Amino acid sequence: MRARTALRFASALVALQTMLVAGCSAAPPPARWSAGASPTAAPVWPLPLKVRLYDPYRLLRPEVRRVAEAEVIRAFGRAGAPVRFTPGDPEAIPATIYRELPSRWDVDPTAIGVAVGERGGRRSVFLSYGAAVRALGHGAGARVPRSRIGVAVGRVLAHELVHAIAPECPHTRTGLMAASLNRRLLTAPGIGFDPLASRYLRRAWTASVLAAGAFGTGPDQ
Ligand SMILES: [Zn+2]
Repeated sequence: MRARTALRFASALVALQTMLVAGCSAAPPPARWSAGASPTAAPVWPLPLKVRLYDPYRLLRPEVRRVAEAEVIRAFGRAGAPVRFTPGDPEAIPATIYRELPSRWDVDPTAIGVAVGERGGRRSVFLSYGAAVRALGHGAGARVPRSRIGVAVGRVLAHELVHAIAPECPHTRTGLMAASLNRRLLTAPGIGFDPLASRYLRRAWTASVLAAGAFGTGPDQ
């Protein structure tokens, strides 16, 4: 995405509410890229961010799903933010993967994912399997190596989760919050959040933990 985009749309999936949508596209690559942009802060949050990954169309093989989830956990962990995938947990942020994002949503056709949410309201992430495959440089119907698509899906999910939980976080010049997640950002080893995105991420989570009165409960509570 060239710039963060606020689109207003109504969808049955989001209870026909008007929400902020932040899309992430596979459009032209950012001007700069750095593999070493992520901090290595130690985890400081007492609670993990809970995420549910829905795959209603069975697009992801189990091993691809595991790779995707591991990639999210790795990226958030490097930013000092623990994440846990909790299927069936009503408190978890739902992330649903589609073959293609519905055209009625009127998002950028190159968008790989969108984040939906309101402050204090329901947050959701939607991902496009087809757009991720195309961003990797593969044509429709191509056989994409499992680890490759798993890492790419995980990185797009990580990007959209930041939009969902820290909507004030801007796109960054480097790392996973780059405006455009090109093939290199989706495949190169060690890509993580840059220091700016990491700060927004920790700030947002700290605020949520304070609001829940959960400090002092220890890890993984
Ligand atoms: Zn974005």
